[in-house]
This record gives sequence, structure tokens and C-alpha cells, in this order.
Amino acid sequence: MNSPLLEARGLSRHYALPRSARQWLGRRAPRTLRAVDEVDLSVERGRTLGIVGETGSGKSTLGRLLLQLERADAGQVLVDGVPATGPGADAGRRRRRDIQVVLQDPYTSLNPYLTIGSAIEEVLTVGGMTSRDARRERVGELLEQVGFPAEWAERKPGQLSGGGRQRVSIARALAAEPRLIVADEPVSALDVSVQAQVLNLFQRLQRELGLAYVFITHDLAVLERIADEVVVLYLGRVVERGPADKLFAAPKHPYTQALLAAAPSLGRSRSTSSVVAGELPDPASPPPGCTFHTRCPFVMEVCRTTRPRLTTTGEGQQTACHLHADPAPASLPPTDGRYRPAPPEANPTAAP
Ligand code: SF4
Repeated sequence: MNSPLLEARGLSRHYALPRSARQWLGRRAPRTLRAVDEVDLSVERGRTLGIVGETGSGKSTLGRLLLQLERADAGQVLVDGVPATGPGADAGRRRRRDIQVVLQDPYTSLNPYLTIGSAIEEVLTVGGMTSRDARRERVGELLEQVGFPAEWAERKPGQLSGGGRQRVSIARALAAEPRLIVADEPVSALDVSVQAQVLNLFQRLQRELGLAYVFITHDLAVLERIADEVVVLYLGRVVERGPADKLFAAPKHPYTQALLAAAPSLGRSRSTSSVVAGELPDPASPPPGCTFHTRCPFVMEVCRTTRPRLTTTGEGQQTACHLHADPAPASLPPTDGRYRPAPPEANPTAAP
């Protein structure tokens, strides 16, 4: 079969914001927040796609669309080439079990009053495993798969560390025998040493079970370690994508360069919002032209008026930036390709 395991085509999710009193008086149209806008991506079997961006970039909304927890306003999600939503979606719906989720905070997904064995057993029951003995045996296997002794089935989530609870969340996801796991900031709440252990676990499970992952994070250093392909989101749109090794070796988009400057290596990363110059613009009123132009050190006149389209900038690599347009603008600013915050006069929103 040639189609990707999971594919998104032109996926969009827009929210109408309530009108303010001034808008009512002025009879202005309600504003729209384009949380996800015309996103294409694909995930191959046994591979890891990383999605990175700041808070407000739309990456978690995109994750919910891929999980079909939210309905897209436009575009399609396909599983094995079959639409999971819209006309002809029945076969895709049957495959929903193939895609499971691991969230940042296991507290939200684990009932503190249930033993961890019961939490995992619930998933097996929903999946149709009727024999109680078989369920108990499978719970033990799943716990061992994530590095716990089978006897820990009787423990409650509160008796485990944050990393331990995340392992239980992973075991719970595995109970549905998925082919793909969407992991939304799965290690960002953990200490650095625990992060590494949980990432090792994800990688081992991928080798043993052939799982595919969509890894959503604000931290490129995490993706440097785990991703095969990377998609960079800014204000709901893809600004760069490509094979992880190529993107990390030679990032083309100034925003990707800024994120990389913020995350030199795993364990020394910082919040991207504190190191990319300037604030993220209001997603409900994005700047015209290139939406990154208010923070970009290479901004040109064309950037303020014309939205750049994704163009091929290397083997498998695509970038939405006028610096890499074909043909390139006549007067390119001098650059050695490295991100530096724009000087204040060129970038009025930059932090001092
Ligand atoms: S299009 Fe212009 S403003 Fe946008 S990232 Fe490229 S150079 Fe910067």
C-alpha cells in the first residue's frame, strides 16, 4: 500500500470570535481566528513527524483535528488513504482506534481514584476483550512494556512520579493497539533527566511495535532527538517543513532559525516565547503579507504586503519565505543565514 498512514490535506479550523461592544455599535463583522489554515502533512508507517511552534501557533488544534476530536472547517484527514471525515468516511472512522493520544498532563487522563491497572483495563474492555483474566494478563504485559512490574497494577496514579504517570498514559494508549500515537507536549512537564527516559521509551516502542508518532512540541531540541520529519507552524500556517536532519543542519526560514537558536540541545532548551524577538501577534489579527514580518530581521518591502507560498528549497524541504522565492527578490538583505533579532528600528514589536 503506497498511501501514507495518516495524511492531512488543506486542513483548516477557524473560530468566529464574539463581537466586542464597539464592533456591535460599528456593525463590524465578527473577527475570525484562523487557528489552523490550509495545512498539508503526512505520516508514514513507523516514522515520527514533529510539529513545532510557539504557544498560539495552532499546533494543539492541529493535533485535535488529526485525532478527529474537532471537526475541520475545510480539508480532510485520511487514514490509509481513506477519508476519516466527510463523505466516504465510514472506513476511516473504523480506523480511529488506530490513532491514540498521549497528553502533556497525565492527571487529566488518569482518574486519581482508579488503580492504574483499572485505567488500562478500561481501554481493553472498550476494545472488546471480554475475559477478565485475559484483561488482567494483558495489563501486566503492558505495564512491563513501559518498564513497570506487573504488580504495580494495584497502585494509584498519585503513588507515581510525573514520569511514571506518563508511562501509564503510554501503556493506556498501547492497550488500543494503535498504529500511530499523537503525543502533545508529552515531556514538557517533566524534569530533563526524566524527559530523556520517556523519549527513550517512545523510541524503543517504535522499534519494537513499528509505531508512528506525531510529536507536538514547542521545543525543537526534543524533535532533534526523535523526529524523522518536521513541520514548523507559525500563526496556524506551515512556514517550513522537511526531513529533520536537513532542517536542523540548514534551516531556511528565519522563524525556524530563531527556534533553533532557542534550543541548542536537549536539556538546555528554553521557552521559545522568551527568545524569538518580539511577541507573537494577535492570531485574530495577523499581520498582512508574511505573518512573521513584524519579528523578522530580514524583512523586505514585499514581506509586508505579499504572503509567501511554500516553495521547494532543498531535497524534501519546503519554505514559505520571500528570501527563498523563485525567482528571488532583486535586493536581498545581506545575511549569513543565521537568525539574529531585528534591530528595534526595523522591528517595533521587538522586546528590548
Ligand atoms: S518572507 Fe520576509 S518577513 Fe517573512 S520570513 Fe521571509 S524574509 Fe522574513
